[in-house]
Amino acid sequence: MRLDAAIASATAHLGDVSESARLDAEILLSTSIDMPRSYLFAHPEDELDSLSLERFETLLARRLDGEPIAYITGRREFWSHELQVSPATLVPRPETEVLVDLALQTIPHDANWQILDLGTGSGAIAIAIASERPLCDITATDISADALAIAAGNAREASLGNTSFIEGRWTTPVRDRCFELIVSNPPYVSDDDEALSGLRFEPRSALASGADGLDDIRILASDCAAILTPGGWLMLEHGATQQTEVARLLSESGWVDIACHNDLVGQPRVTVARRNVTQATIKPSETS
Ligand code: GLN
Repeated sequence: MRLDAAIASATAHLGDVSESARLDAEILLSTSIDMPRSYLFAHPEDELDSLSLERFETLLARRLDGEPIAYITGRREFWSHELQVSPATLVPRPETEVLVDLALQTIPHDANWQILDLGTGSGAIAIAIASERPLCDITATDISADALAIAAGNAREASLGNTSFIEGRWTTPVRDRCFELIVSNPPYVSDDDEALSGLRFEPRSALASGADGLDDIRILASDCAAILTPGGWLMLEHGATQQTEVARLLSESGWVDIACHNDLVGQPRVTVARRNVTQATIKPSETS
């Protein structure tokens, strides 16, 4: 079969499961022949050999079964970095680039801040910030050792020398540190959300966060002030209907200058707050 015919036939099949059927078909085909996507357009008349055809059919079957394209190829682009992802990590979402953008608007170009990314997953946020602010040190934590290994590998691949990765739950492994900025895309989906019942590939632990989806944000709202410099920043991604509740939780814990920002499709997505200079910081309990 010719490359262009293979794309056309796969695109027709993928129409039912994917909103980006043609792009998916091209990515799967280029992965099968181990060539960049541009090769497909330069050589549409090339014939697929039987081994490549077999690989293509296997990958196509996985996509038709609903597996995300990023897990099939093991890669996903985020903030111009080609990141490795695995089923131990969430596939980075475009809306999370808003969080990166807000962080970069806040960090001066010549700053040498200590920055913390809590629950880093594939390392997407930490790596994007580290590459844009080479004088800053970015520490990233995650409770999953498997996810951290992926994140550290991504930082190495991006040739970054200003990132470090520490295993542990939320602020637990960095309680003796002090940061100027903390960012996090924590799990924020409520336990009864339909998206979770249909979840077969991504780690539930990276998405689900209790009955109202706010269990982890509650922990961050109460524990982050203790490791932030007075006036330091906290930036949290959250669900499109959670902004009022997130603002209330932060305000109850003494945070100030609380503001919510929309994502690229106009949905409330990231709330920014500052540690009050006089904010009482209770040492977080060892169990949280
Ligand atoms: N935005 C993600 C989704 O809807 C959720 C990410 C998260 O819980 N951190 O799938």
